[in-house]
Amino acid sequence: MTRAISPDHPTERSAEPLAPALYITATPIGNRGDVTLRALEALARADRLLCEDTRVTRKLLGMYGLSRPLIAYHDHNAESMRPKILAWIAAGESVVLVSDAGTPLISDPGFKLARDCRAAGLPVTALPGASAALAALAVCGLPTDRFFFLGFLPPKSAARRAELAEVAGLRASLVIYESPRRLAALLADAAAVLPGRQAAVCRELTKMFEEAVTGTLEELARRYAEADTPKGEIVLVIGPPGEAAAWSEAAVDAALDEALATHSVKDAAAAVAAASGLPKKTVYARALARRDAP
Ligand code: SAM
Repeated sequence: MTRAISPDHPTERSAEPLAPALYITATPIGNRGDVTLRALEALARADRLLCEDTRVTRKLLGMYGLSRPLIAYHDHNAESMRPKILAWIAAGESVVLVSDAGTPLISDPGFKLARDCRAAGLPVTALPGASAALAALAVCGLPTDRFFFLGFLPPKSAARRAELAEVAGLRASLVIYESPRRLAALLADAAAVLPGRQAAVCRELTKMFEEAVTGTLEELARRYAEADTPKGEIVLVIGPPGEAAAWSEAAVDAALDEALATHSVKDAAAAVAAASGLPKKTVYARALARRDAP
């Protein structure tokens, strides 16, 4: 008889094979202590291990004293691999999917595989663990009751601004993955589209040089425009639009001036109204006054 990884006895080792299923398995995002007992058991016992980059996962397994054959599953071979993987599970095998770091499917491959397994009536189960998005939310000090995950935004500024504008009115914190190289450009666009918002640049989470630098988007944009390209991995969290009461007249004017430098009166007013929660008409009138001021 096969059995699933027991939630009650996660460290129990057994000669019995794992139940046939796709096991979506999280791995650490930097600190090797952040692997779960269930993940270690699955990595040790599954019939097949799928990973993005075999070199990265071989190194990870080595940290836990494991050495297993690895099968690559990534954007370039996923189409041809999926039918084979489904056939393995249908034939009774257990298949673990890991990504280079964190939770598979979160800005990483795996969604189509999970979808196709489910469509074929094959079991899909999660072995949850680290994810940079959740670690960033945990440390950033911004509201976490509602959040919206944007993953990586487009590399071109116009497309990036359009995506940010789409979610400007959302009453939720925004979570964005970004490379250090593009951080300054992202912050400049975010400050223009979402003026006045609080934000946090969360870097190297769970690692030795972990930090969360907080401020308004304008402050952060200035700071990273002047600094050298930061090292390591980064999540940007942007807080939700503020309550109207929290915005002083001076804050509204400052946000409008910043937005008017690159936007039409209409767009600047819409962005500041969305960010502040103030009525659009009021902000538009103020934007006209700022534009026409000597
Ligand atoms: N699947 C992963 C997860 O669950 O977080 C994310 C994979 S995505 C390809 C990689 C991005 O996640 C990085 O570019 C960075 O934005 C973010 N990231 C991963 N590890 C991180 C860390 N230790 N600190 C900050 N950001 C991290």
